Amino acid sequence: MILLNPNKHDRYYPDQRSREIMQKTIAFFEHKGKHRLKEDDHRQIWYADFLEFQKQEQILAELLTPPAYGTPDSRWDTWRNCEFNEILAFYGLAYWYTWQVSILGLGPIWQSENESIKRRAAQLLQEGHVFAFGLSERAHGADIYSTEMSLTEQADGNYLANGEKYYIGNGNIAPMVSTFGKIAGNGEYVFFTADYRHRNYNLLRNITHSQSYVANFELHDYPVSETDILARGQAAWYAALNTVNIGKYNLGWASIGICTHAFYEALHHAAYRRLYGMAVTDFPHVQQMFTEAYARLVAMKLFTLRAADYMRSASPEDRRYLLYNPVVKMKVTTQGEEVINLLWDVIAAKGFEKDTYFEMAARDIRALPKLEGTVHVNIALIVKFIANYFFNPAEYPLVPRRDEAANDDFLFRQGPAKGLGKIRFHDYRTVFNRFDLPNMCLFQEQVRVLEEMLMRATPSEAQTKDLDFLLTLGEAFTLVVYAQLILENAEIYTVPAHTLDQIFDFMVRDLSKFALQLYSKSGSTPEQMAYCLKMIQKPAVDPGRFQSVWREQVHSLRDEYEMRA
Ligand SMILES: Cc1cc2nc3c(=O)[nH]c(=O)nc-3n(C[C@H](O)[C@H](O)[C@H](O)COP(=O)(O)OP(=O)(O)OC[C@H]3O[C@@H](n4cnc5c(N)ncnc54)[C@H](O)[C@@H]3O)c2cc1C
Repeated sequence: MILLNPNKHDRYYPDQRSREIMQKTIAFFEHKGKHRLKEDDHRQIWYADFLEFQKQEQILAELLTPPAYGTPDSRWDTWRNCEFNEILAFYGLAYWYTWQVSILGLGPIWQSENESIKRRAAQLLQEGHVFAFGLSERAHGADIYSTEMSLTEQADGNYLANGEKYYIGNGNIAPMVSTFGKIAGNGEYVFFTADYRHRNYNLLRNITHSQSYVANFELHDYPVSETDILARGQAAWYAALNTVNIGKYNLGWASIGICTHAFYEALHHAAYRRLYGMAVTDFPHVQQMFTEAYARLVAMKLFTLRAADYMRSASPEDRRYLLYNPVVKMKVTTQGEEVINLLWDVIAAKGFEKDTYFEMAARDIRALPKLEGTVHVNIALIVKFIANYFFNPAEYPLVPRRDEAANDDFLFRQGPAKGLGKIRFHDYRTVFNRFDLPNMCLFQEQVRVLEEMLMRATPSEAQTKDLDFLLTLGEAFTLVVYAQLILENAEIYTVPAHTLDQIFDFMVRDLSKFALQLYSKSGSTPEQMAYCLKMIQKPAVDPGRFQSVWREQVHSLRDEYEMRA
C-alpha cells in the first residue's frame, strides 16, 4: 500500500536506526493521542514535549547532520527525511514546521565555508536545539533584493547588525538564526547567524495565532564578527536560493501527510454514517469524491517520491531537480487543497468538530501553497523550462529508486543558482510510450496538441511578458511534468493499472480545464484558441475500472487507521 499507515509501518529502510526513528516518532504521537493533540492545538500550547522527545532521541541531530560533523548514524538522507516529513505533518503541521524551519536554517550553515560555525551547529543539534531561517522581511515578500537588514563595519573590523525580520519560524528559540542582510555602504549580500539569547536580539512578537512561533524580531546594534558570517556576496545570495530549492520540496510532504490522515478519518466516518437506511459511502457521488481524492493523493505521493530520486541523483551536470522541486511545491500543495475540498464536501458538518483531525487539516492545508514562494512565483520559475523540456531533450542514465543510506552531499554544494533555461531533460515521451491505458492515451494526445500549439502558434514576445497568460500556460505544462514522473514511479511501485488510469481520468479533466482557461485569456490568439479547443477532452468512461478502484483500493481502507483518543 502506498499511503502511510502508522498501524502498519513497513516502509523499506536500508538500516535499522532509520526505521527506529520513524517508529518512535509514530509511537510518540500515538501515545500523546488525538485528544491532547487537538487540545494543544486549540490552546496553542508550545510543543515542548515534541522538542524534548526529539532531543532525547537525537532525531534532528541524526537526520540533519552531515556525517563529517555528526555521529555514525547521522547523515542528510532525503529518502528517510521524506518519511519523517510525512509523519510529522500526518500528526500536525506545527510539529512539521519546527523541523522544516530548522532545515531552512541549516541550509546556509552546511553550505558555508565557515568550519567553526558548522561544528557549532552540529554541537547544538546534539544538544537538541532547533534552527531558524531569517530571510523574510515585513515589507518585501518575495522581493529579497530589497532586504533592509544591514551590517555596518566598525573600526575593529567587526560589524553591528540593525534591522527587523518578519515571519521567522523558531525565531523565539533558535541559538543560530541564519539571517540574510546587506553590508552597509557597498550593498554586498551577507548571511550570518544571530542568537535569540543575545540582549541585542529583540523578540518582538509571534505574528501568527498558532502553536508555532513565527517571529518578528529586531537586531539592534547586534555585534557580528567574522566567526558569525556564513557567506558574503554571490555566495550568500546563492545560499539563500539553494536553501529554498531544498526546503520547498518538503512542503509537498506536509500536504501529503495532512491529506493522508484526513482521508482515513473522513472515509471511516462516511463508511459508518447511515442515512436513509444506507451508508453514506453508498451514494454514487460520494464514491466519486473519495475515489478522486484517493487518486489525487496517490498521484501526489508518486510524484513527490520520484522527485526525491532526481534530487538525490543531482550533480552539476544533472540539475533536473530544479524543475521537479518547484512542481512539488506548487502542484502537490495545491492538489492537497483539492483533496481536502473533496473530503470536506463528503463529511460536511463533521469537518467542523473540534475533536477531529480534519478540523485542523482544513485550516493547515491552505498554508502550504503560500509559503516559501507562492504558487505564482514557482510557476514563473517553471515556465523557464518549457522550451528545453519539449523541444531539446537529452540522454541521461536511468535514475533508479534512491533508497540507499547515503548523505546527499550535492544539496550543499549546488553552485550558482542560475542558468535554468539551459537545463535539459530526458524525453518525457519515452515513459508515456511504455503504457497503453485509455486515459493516459487521451492525455498523451492532449499533450501532443499543446506541443503543436507551442510550435505553430508560439507565444509572442508580448505574451511571454504577460504573466497572467504565462501562469495558465505554466499550469498546463506542469501537468505534463507531473504525469511523466507519476508514470515513472508507477512502474517502480507497480501501481495497479486501474488506479493509474483513474489518475489519468483527472489529469485529462485538469488539462481540459487549463486549456479552457488559456482559451479565455484576453491575450490568446485565434490560432491558440483553436488548439485549446482541441485540447479539451472527456475522460474515457469505464464503470468497471471505477468500481474496482473504489472497492479494492479506496473503500477497503475504511478501518485501516484511526488515531488513539
Ligand atoms: C506561517 C508562515 C511562516 C513563514 N516562515 C518563514 C521563515 O521561517 N523564514 C522566512 O524567511 N520566511 C518565512 N515566511 C515567509 C514566506 O515564505 C513568504 O510569506 C512567502 O514567500 C510569500 O511572501 P508574501 O506572502 O509576502 O507574498 P508577496 O511576495 O508579497 O507576494 C504578493 C503577490 O505577488 C506575487 N509575486 C511576487 N513575486 C512574484 C514573481 N516573481 N512572479 C510572480 N508573482 C509574484 C505573489 O505570487 C503574490 O500573489 C513565512 C510565512 C508564513 C505566513
